[in-house]
Amino acid sequence: MARKLAAGNWKMNGTGEALGEIDALVAAHPAPICDVLICPPSTLLSRMSDRTNATKIATGGQDCHANSNGAHTGDISAQMIADAGGSFVIVGHSERRADHGETDADVATKAKAVWDANLIAVICVGETLAEREAGQTIDVVAGQLAGSIPDGATGANTVIAYEPVWAIGTGKVPTLDEIAAVHADIRARLSQRFGSHGTDMSILYGGSVKPSNADDIFAVPDVDGALVGGASLKADDFGGIISALERA
Ligand code: PEP
Repeated sequence: MARKLAAGNWKMNGTGEALGEIDALVAAHPAPICDVLICPPSTLLSRMSDRTNATKIATGGQDCHANSNGAHTGDISAQMIADAGGSFVIVGHSERRADHGETDADVATKAKAVWDANLIAVICVGETLAEREAGQTIDVVAGQLAGSIPDGATGANTVIAYEPVWAIGTGKVPTLDEIAAVHADIRARLSQRFGSHGTDMSILYGGSVKPSNADDIFAVPDVDGALVGGASLKADDFGGIISALERA
C-alpha cells in the first residue's frame, strides 16, 4: 500500500521566526493519521528537526549533491541532510531542472545518493505549459520517470511527485480528470517497471494545492498526497491540507 503523505516545500523562504509555524502545526495536529513532511531551507533544517523530533512530522532537504562530500562550494550532501535530522530529500524539482539545468540523469544520480544515505527520495516530474498544449504530457512525464528513477526504487525508498510546471505557484490547477489521467499512467509505468514496489510507491500531486481544493484532489485515484509549496508556509493552510488527506 502506498503511504499517504502531505509534504511541504518551503523553497527559499523562512528564517528562524518561521519555526513558530511548526509549533502551531504540531499543536493543531499532534497525531496526524497520514505522514507529514516539511522540507525547509537547509539553514533551518537542523533547528526544525530538533523541534519535530518527538512529533510525527518528518523533515527533509530540497536538493542534495550527488557526492557525499568534497570540493563543491555551496552544496550539501544527503549525508549532511541526514546528520541534520532529515529523512527525505526532494530531487528533480522543476525549479532545479530549470534554474540549474538538472537533467534526468542528474536527478537519478542524486536519488541514488539519497538512498546511499538511507533517506527517501521524492523524485519530481511534470510537463511545461508548452508541452501540455502540444499534447505531450504523458510522453514527457514517461520520459522523466524512465530517466530520473534509478533501478532499485521501492515504496520504502522513493516517492514520486507529479507537478505540472505551469501549476506551480500560479493558482492554476489541472482538471481532476487531467490529474487522474497522468496519475493512472504513472502508476501503470511504475507497476510495469518495479512490480509490487511500483504499487507501493506514493504518487503525490503538486501545483497550487490549497485547503479549498485538497479534498477534491485527494479523491482522485492514485493521488496519495501532495507536494505543497506556498500553502505549506502557514500552519493553518498546511494543517487544512493535512486534514483533507486524513479524510481521504
Ligand atoms: C512546489 O513548489 O512543489 C509547489 C507545488 O508549489 P505550490 O504549491 O506553491 O504551487
